[in-house]
Amino acid sequence: MRDLRISVTDRCNFRCKYCMPFDEYTWMAKKEVLTFAEIERLARVFSSLGVSQLRLTGGEPLVRRELHSLVAALSTVPGIEDISLTTNGALLGEQAQDLLAAGLRRINVSIDTLRPERFREITQRGDLQTVLDGLFAAQRAGMRPIKINAVVIRGFNEDEILDLVTFGRTHGFEIRFIEYMDVGNANGWTLDKTYTKREMLELIHARFPLREIGRAGNSAPAVDYEFLDGGGRVGIIGSVTEPFCSSCTRTRLTADGKLVTCLFAETGFDVKTLMRQGATDADLTEAIGKIWVGRSDRFSDIRWEHLQSGTEYRPESHKKIEMITLGG
Ligand code: SAM
Ligand code: SF4
Repeated sequence: MRDLRISVTDRCNFRCKYCMPFDEYTWMAKKEVLTFAEIERLARVFSSLGVSQLRLTGGEPLVRRELHSLVAALSTVPGIEDISLTTNGALLGEQAQDLLAAGLRRINVSIDTLRPERFREITQRGDLQTVLDGLFAAQRAGMRPIKINAVVIRGFNEDEILDLVTFGRTHGFEIRFIEYMDVGNANGWTLDKTYTKREMLELIHARFPLREIGRAGNSAPAVDYEFLDGGGRVGIIGSVTEPFCSSCTRTRLTADGKLVTCLFAETGFDVKTLMRQGATDADLTEAIGKIWVGRSDRFSDIRWEHLQSGTEYRPESHKKIEMITLGG
Protein backbone atom coordinates (compact mmCIF):
# COMPACT_ATOMS: atom_id res chain seq x y z
CA MET A 1 0.00 0.00 0.00
CA ARG A 2 1.68 3.19 -1.23
CA ASP A 3 -1.00 5.50 -2.63
CA LEU A 4 -4.17 6.60 -0.95
CA ARG A 5 -6.89 8.30 -2.98
CA ILE A 6 -9.16 10.31 -0.77
CA SER A 7 -12.60 11.23 -2.04
CA VAL A 8 -13.49 14.42 -0.19
CA THR A 9 -17.05 14.60 -1.49
CA ASP A 10 -19.39 12.60 -3.69
CA ARG A 11 -20.87 15.81 -5.08
CA CYS A 12 -20.02 17.20 -8.46
CA ASN A 13 -20.86 20.26 -10.52
CA PHE A 14 -20.60 18.22 -13.77
CA ARG A 15 -22.50 15.17 -14.96
CA CYS A 16 -19.99 13.49 -17.25
CA LYS A 17 -21.79 10.84 -19.23
CA TYR A 18 -19.08 8.23 -18.67
CA CYS A 19 -18.95 8.78 -14.91
CA MET A 20 -22.03 10.29 -13.39
CA PRO A 21 -24.87 10.29 -15.90
CA PHE A 22 -27.62 10.85 -13.32
CA ASP A 23 -29.47 14.14 -13.05
CA GLU A 24 -30.42 13.53 -9.48
CA TYR A 25 -28.71 11.27 -7.03
CA THR A 26 -29.01 10.39 -3.37
CA TRP A 27 -26.05 12.30 -2.04
CA MET A 28 -24.31 11.34 1.16
CA ALA A 29 -25.73 13.07 4.21
CA LYS A 30 -23.34 15.76 5.49
CA LYS A 31 -22.94 14.06 8.86
CA GLU A 32 -21.73 10.89 7.12
CA VAL A 33 -18.93 12.70 5.34
CA LEU A 34 -15.50 12.57 7.00
CA THR A 35 -14.41 15.84 8.58
CA PHE A 36 -11.01 17.25 7.70
CA ALA A 37 -9.75 16.25 11.16
CA GLU A 38 -10.89 12.65 10.55
CA ILE A 39 -9.23 12.58 7.13
CA GLU A 40 -6.00 13.90 8.60
CA ARG A 41 -6.08 11.31 11.37
CA LEU A 42 -6.63 8.51 8.87
CA ALA A 43 -3.84 9.86 6.65
CA ARG A 44 -1.47 9.47 9.61
CA VAL A 45 -2.62 5.88 10.11
CA PHE A 46 -2.22 5.08 6.41
CA SER A 47 1.18 6.71 6.39
CA SER A 48 2.27 4.44 9.25
CA LEU A 49 1.26 1.50 7.03
CA GLY A 50 3.44 2.62 4.13
CA VAL A 51 1.40 5.18 2.22
CA SER A 52 3.58 8.04 0.97
CA GLN A 53 1.36 9.54 -1.74
CA LEU A 54 -2.06 11.11 -1.34
CA ARG A 55 -4.42 12.18 -4.09
CA LEU A 56 -7.52 14.23 -3.35
CA THR A 57 -10.43 13.45 -5.60
CA GLY A 58 -14.18 12.89 -5.64
CA GLY A 59 -16.81 13.71 -6.98
CA GLU A 60 -15.36 17.10 -7.61
CA PRO A 61 -12.93 17.88 -4.78
CA LEU A 62 -13.06 21.64 -5.29
CA VAL A 63 -16.75 21.79 -4.37
CA ARG A 64 -15.72 20.84 -0.81
CA ARG A 65 -15.45 24.14 1.03
CA GLU A 66 -12.01 25.27 2.24
CA LEU A 67 -10.25 22.34 0.61
CA HIS A 68 -6.97 24.22 0.87
CA SER A 69 -7.06 23.87 4.66
CA LEU A 70 -7.17 20.08 4.27
CA VAL A 71 -4.15 20.28 1.96
CA ALA A 72 -2.32 22.33 4.57
CA ALA A 73 -3.15 19.79 7.29
CA LEU A 74 -2.12 16.82 5.17
CA SER A 75 1.16 18.53 4.31
CA THR A 76 2.18 18.12 7.95
CA VAL A 77 1.65 14.34 8.06
CA PRO A 78 5.01 12.57 8.52
CA GLY A 79 5.86 10.17 5.71
CA ILE A 80 3.65 11.82 3.10
CA GLU A 81 5.99 12.81 0.29
CA ASP A 82 3.48 13.81 -2.31
CA ILE A 83 -0.02 15.34 -2.36
CA SER A 84 -1.90 15.74 -5.61
CA LEU A 85 -5.41 16.57 -6.78
CA THR A 86 -7.65 15.47 -9.63
CA THR A 87 -10.21 18.09 -10.62
CA ASN A 88 -12.57 18.97 -13.43
CA GLY A 89 -11.07 22.48 -13.24
CA ALA A 90 -14.33 24.45 -13.10
CA LEU A 91 -13.41 26.06 -9.76
CA LEU A 92 -9.65 26.01 -10.21
CA GLY A 93 -9.34 29.63 -11.29
CA GLU A 94 -10.66 30.87 -7.96
CA GLN A 95 -8.81 28.34 -5.79
CA ALA A 96 -5.40 27.82 -7.42
CA GLN A 97 -3.57 30.44 -5.32
CA ASP A 98 -4.93 29.17 -2.00
CA LEU A 99 -4.20 25.56 -2.90
CA LEU A 100 -0.65 26.40 -3.92
CA ALA A 101 -0.08 28.38 -0.74
CA ALA A 102 -1.32 25.37 1.24
CA GLY A 103 1.35 23.18 -0.38
CA LEU A 104 -0.32 21.66 -3.43
CA ARG A 105 1.96 21.42 -6.46
CA ARG A 106 0.75 18.54 -8.58
CA ILE A 107 -2.66 18.54 -10.21
CA ASN A 108 -4.52 16.65 -12.90
CA VAL A 109 -7.24 18.50 -14.75
CA SER A 110 -9.77 16.47 -16.72
CA ILE A 111 -10.32 17.75 -20.27
CA ASP A 112 -11.53 15.22 -22.83
CA THR A 113 -12.13 17.60 -25.70
CA LEU A 114 -11.04 21.06 -26.83
CA ARG A 115 -14.31 21.74 -28.62
CA PRO A 116 -16.76 23.77 -26.53
CA GLU A 117 -19.96 22.08 -27.76
CA ARG A 118 -18.49 18.64 -27.31
CA PHE A 119 -17.28 19.59 -23.86
CA ARG A 120 -20.78 20.67 -22.92
CA GLU A 121 -22.21 17.48 -24.40
CA ILE A 122 -19.97 15.10 -22.46
CA THR A 123 -19.96 16.98 -19.13
CA GLN A 124 -23.62 18.02 -19.51
CA ARG A 125 -22.93 21.10 -17.37
CA GLY A 126 -19.37 22.24 -17.97
CA ASP A 127 -17.99 25.28 -19.78
CA LEU A 128 -14.70 24.61 -21.56
CA GLN A 129 -13.43 28.19 -21.40
CA THR A 130 -13.89 28.34 -17.63
CA VAL A 131 -11.88 25.14 -17.27
CA LEU A 132 -9.12 26.38 -19.59
CA ASP A 133 -8.98 29.65 -17.64
CA GLY A 134 -8.57 27.61 -14.44
CA LEU A 135 -5.89 25.44 -16.02
CA PHE A 136 -3.80 28.44 -17.08
CA ALA A 137 -4.41 30.19 -13.76
CA ALA A 138 -2.92 27.16 -12.00
CA GLN A 139 0.05 27.22 -14.37
CA ARG A 140 0.61 30.95 -13.84
CA ALA A 141 0.37 30.45 -10.08
CA GLY A 142 3.30 28.02 -10.37
CA MET A 143 1.74 24.57 -10.02
CA ARG A 144 3.93 21.90 -11.60
CA PRO A 145 3.52 19.40 -13.08
CA ILE A 146 0.02 19.90 -14.45
CA LYS A 147 -1.35 16.88 -16.25
CA ILE A 148 -4.49 16.69 -18.33
CA ASN A 149 -6.66 13.58 -18.01
CA ALA A 150 -8.53 12.73 -21.20
CA VAL A 151 -10.87 9.76 -21.41
CA VAL A 152 -10.99 8.50 -24.99
CA ILE A 153 -14.32 7.10 -26.16
CA ARG A 154 -14.53 5.52 -29.59
CA GLY A 155 -16.90 7.42 -31.81
CA PHE A 156 -16.80 10.47 -29.56
CA ASN A 157 -13.34 12.01 -29.25
CA GLU A 158 -10.62 9.78 -30.69
CA ASP A 159 -10.39 12.31 -33.53
CA GLU A 160 -8.99 14.81 -30.99
CA ILE A 161 -6.11 12.74 -29.66
CA LEU A 162 -3.52 14.56 -31.78
CA ASP A 163 -5.10 17.97 -31.05
CA LEU A 164 -4.81 17.24 -27.33
CA VAL A 165 -1.21 16.10 -27.76
CA THR A 166 -0.41 19.31 -29.65
CA PHE A 167 -2.13 21.39 -26.97
CA GLY A 168 -0.05 19.67 -24.29
CA ARG A 169 3.22 20.09 -26.19
CA THR A 170 2.50 23.75 -26.92
CA HIS A 171 1.61 24.74 -23.38
CA GLY A 172 3.75 22.38 -21.30
CA PHE A 173 1.04 20.01 -20.01
CA GLU A 174 1.46 16.26 -19.98
CA ILE A 175 -1.63 14.55 -21.38
CA ARG A 176 -2.84 11.37 -19.71
CA PHE A 177 -5.04 9.44 -22.10
CA ILE A 178 -7.34 7.03 -20.28
CA GLU A 179 -9.08 4.04 -21.80
CA TYR A 180 -12.82 4.29 -21.29
CA MET A 181 -13.68 1.93 -18.42
CA ASP A 182 -16.84 0.31 -17.07
CA VAL A 183 -16.76 2.15 -13.77
CA GLY A 184 -20.03 2.44 -11.87
CA ASN A 185 -23.22 0.94 -13.22
CA ALA A 186 -24.85 3.55 -15.39
CA ASN A 187 -22.54 4.62 -18.20
CA GLY A 188 -23.56 1.86 -20.63
CA TRP A 189 -19.97 0.81 -21.22
CA THR A 190 -19.22 -1.78 -23.87
CA LEU A 191 -15.77 -2.90 -25.01
CA ASP A 192 -16.20 -1.50 -28.51
CA LYS A 193 -16.36 2.03 -27.03
CA THR A 194 -12.89 1.60 -25.52
CA TYR A 195 -10.32 3.08 -27.88
CA THR A 196 -7.35 0.98 -26.87
CA LYS A 197 -3.98 2.02 -25.50
CA ARG A 198 -2.34 0.38 -28.47
CA GLU A 199 -4.45 2.34 -30.95
CA MET A 200 -3.69 5.61 -29.14
CA LEU A 201 0.01 4.86 -29.12
CA GLU A 202 0.16 4.01 -32.82
CA LEU A 203 -1.72 7.17 -33.72
CA ILE A 204 0.47 9.45 -31.60
CA HIS A 205 3.71 7.73 -32.56
CA ALA A 206 2.99 8.14 -36.29
CA ARG A 207 2.81 11.92 -35.87
CA PHE A 208 5.09 12.53 -32.88
CA PRO A 209 7.58 9.66 -32.49
CA LEU A 210 7.84 8.40 -28.92
CA ARG A 211 9.97 6.29 -26.66
CA GLU A 212 8.57 4.30 -23.74
CA ILE A 213 9.78 5.28 -20.29
CA GLY A 214 7.59 2.96 -18.21
CA ARG A 215 5.40 3.30 -15.14
CA ALA A 216 6.47 5.77 -12.46
CA GLY A 217 7.64 3.76 -9.45
CA ASN A 218 6.82 0.61 -11.48
CA SER A 219 3.27 0.74 -10.15
CA ALA A 220 1.61 3.88 -11.58
CA PRO A 221 -1.51 3.30 -13.69
CA ALA A 222 -0.05 5.25 -16.62
CA VAL A 223 2.74 4.07 -18.88
CA ASP A 224 4.78 7.17 -19.70
CA TYR A 225 6.26 8.00 -23.10
CA GLU A 226 8.69 10.72 -24.12
CA PHE A 227 8.67 12.53 -27.48
CA LEU A 228 11.90 11.91 -29.36
CA ASP A 229 12.08 15.59 -30.36
CA GLY A 230 12.19 16.68 -26.71
CA GLY A 231 8.63 18.04 -26.82
CA GLY A 232 7.64 16.54 -23.46
CA ARG A 233 5.75 13.43 -22.43
CA VAL A 234 2.39 11.70 -22.62
CA GLY A 235 0.98 8.93 -20.47
CA ILE A 236 -1.56 6.26 -21.37
CA ILE A 237 -3.70 4.36 -18.88
CA GLY A 238 -4.79 1.08 -20.40
CA SER A 239 -6.66 -0.47 -17.53
CA VAL A 240 -9.09 -2.32 -19.80
CA THR A 241 -6.75 -3.81 -22.40
CA GLU A 242 -3.51 -3.88 -20.40
CA PRO A 243 -4.61 -4.40 -16.79
CA PHE A 244 -2.05 -3.81 -14.08
CA CYS A 245 -3.73 -5.36 -11.03
CA SER A 246 -0.62 -7.32 -10.07
CA SER A 247 1.42 -4.17 -9.43
CA CYS A 248 -1.38 -2.09 -7.86
CA THR A 249 -0.43 -0.26 -4.68
CA ARG A 250 -3.51 2.00 -4.55
CA THR A 251 -6.25 2.11 -2.02
CA ARG A 252 -9.22 4.43 -1.69
CA LEU A 253 -11.14 6.16 1.02
CA THR A 254 -14.69 7.22 0.16
CA ALA A 255 -16.04 10.54 1.38
CA ASP A 256 -18.10 8.68 3.99
CA GLY A 257 -15.09 6.80 5.28
CA LYS A 258 -15.16 3.42 3.57
CA LEU A 259 -11.88 1.79 2.67
CA VAL A 260 -12.09 0.40 -0.86
CA THR A 261 -9.22 -1.64 -2.24
CA CYS A 262 -10.18 -1.65 -5.95
CA LEU A 263 -11.71 0.83 -8.40
CA PHE A 264 -14.19 -1.88 -9.41
CA ALA A 265 -15.10 -3.06 -5.91
CA GLU A 266 -18.67 -3.74 -4.83
CA THR A 267 -18.20 -2.83 -1.17
CA GLY A 268 -15.85 -1.12 1.21
CA PHE A 269 -14.86 -1.46 4.84
CA ASP A 270 -16.43 1.11 7.17
CA VAL A 271 -13.44 2.79 8.84
CA LYS A 272 -15.47 5.83 9.86
CA THR A 273 -17.84 3.89 12.14
CA LEU A 274 -14.89 2.16 13.76
CA MET A 275 -13.25 5.54 14.30
CA ARG A 276 -16.41 7.23 15.59
CA GLN A 277 -17.01 4.35 18.00
CA GLY A 278 -13.74 5.21 19.70
CA ALA A 279 -11.11 3.04 18.01
CA THR A 280 -7.55 4.00 18.87
CA ASP A 281 -4.94 4.63 16.18
CA ALA A 282 -3.54 1.17 16.96
CA ASP A 283 -7.00 -0.39 16.38
CA LEU A 284 -7.34 1.47 13.07
CA THR A 285 -3.86 0.47 11.97
CA GLU A 286 -4.56 -3.17 12.72
CA ALA A 287 -7.94 -3.19 10.95
CA ILE A 288 -6.70 -1.41 7.84
CA GLY A 289 -3.51 -3.47 7.66
CA LYS A 290 -5.54 -6.70 7.81
CA ILE A 291 -7.79 -5.60 4.99
CA TRP A 292 -4.88 -4.69 2.78
CA VAL A 293 -3.03 -7.93 3.44
CA GLY A 294 -6.20 -9.92 2.81
CA ARG A 295 -7.16 -8.22 -0.43
CA SER A 296 -7.43 -10.35 -3.53
CA ASP A 297 -8.77 -7.78 -6.01
CA ARG A 298 -7.80 -8.31 -9.62
CA PHE A 299 -10.96 -7.20 -11.30
CA SER A 300 -9.40 -5.71 -14.46
CA ASP A 301 -7.34 -8.86 -14.98
CA ILE A 302 -10.45 -11.01 -14.68
CA ARG A 303 -12.50 -8.78 -17.00
CA TRP A 304 -9.77 -8.92 -19.63
CA GLU A 305 -9.48 -12.71 -19.31
CA HIS A 306 -13.24 -12.98 -19.93
CA LEU A 307 -13.17 -10.57 -22.84
CA GLN A 308 -10.27 -12.32 -24.51
CA SER A 309 -11.53 -15.84 -24.05
CA GLY A 310 -14.94 -14.92 -25.41
CA THR A 311 -16.57 -15.90 -22.11
CA GLU A 312 -19.44 -13.59 -21.60
CA TYR A 313 -18.68 -10.47 -19.57
CA ARG A 314 -21.77 -8.54 -18.54
CA PRO A 315 -20.95 -5.27 -16.75
CA GLU A 316 -24.51 -4.96 -15.46
CA SER A 317 -24.19 -8.18 -13.45
CA HIS A 318 -21.32 -6.72 -11.44
CA LYS A 319 -22.67 -3.97 -9.17
CA LYS A 320 -19.78 -1.62 -8.59
CA ILE A 321 -19.53 1.39 -6.32
CA GLU A 322 -20.12 4.55 -8.38
CA MET A 323 -16.94 6.40 -9.37
CA ILE A 324 -18.12 9.64 -7.75
CA THR A 325 -18.49 7.80 -4.45
CA LEU A 326 -15.21 5.97 -4.37
CA GLY A 327 -12.98 8.58 -5.95
CA GLY A 328 -11.44 8.15 -9.38
N1 SAM B 1 -14.11 15.35 -10.69
C1 SAM B 1 -12.72 15.17 -10.84
C2 SAM B 1 -12.34 15.04 -12.30
O1 SAM B 1 -13.22 14.85 -13.13
O2 SAM B 1 -11.16 15.14 -12.59
C3 SAM B 1 -12.15 14.01 -10.05
C4 SAM B 1 -12.95 12.73 -10.00
S1 SAM B 1 -13.07 11.87 -11.54
C5 SAM B 1 -14.05 10.48 -11.08
C6 SAM B 1 -11.42 11.23 -11.73
C7 SAM B 1 -11.03 10.81 -13.12
O3 SAM B 1 -11.77 9.66 -13.50
C8 SAM B 1 -11.30 11.86 -14.19
O4 SAM B 1 -10.12 12.13 -14.91
C9 SAM B 1 -12.31 11.20 -15.08
O5 SAM B 1 -12.17 11.59 -16.43
C10 SAM B 1 -12.01 9.74 -14.88
N2 SAM B 1 -13.13 8.88 -15.25
C11 SAM B 1 -14.41 8.98 -14.84
N3 SAM B 1 -15.17 8.02 -15.40
C12 SAM B 1 -14.35 7.29 -16.21
C13 SAM B 1 -14.53 6.16 -17.07
N4 SAM B 1 -15.72 5.61 -17.22
N5 SAM B 1 -13.46 5.69 -17.73
C14 SAM B 1 -12.25 6.26 -17.58
N6 SAM B 1 -12.00 7.31 -16.77
C15 SAM B 1 -13.04 7.83 -16.10
FE1 SF4 C 1 -17.75 14.88 -11.92
FE2 SF4 C 1 -15.25 14.19 -12.42
FE3 SF4 C 1 -17.20 12.38 -12.66
FE4 SF4 C 1 -17.07 14.34 -14.41
S1 SF4 C 1 -15.52 12.73 -14.09
S2 SF4 C 1 -18.94 13.67 -13.34
S3 SF4 C 1 -16.30 16.00 -13.20
S4 SF4 C 1 -16.55 13.35 -10.79
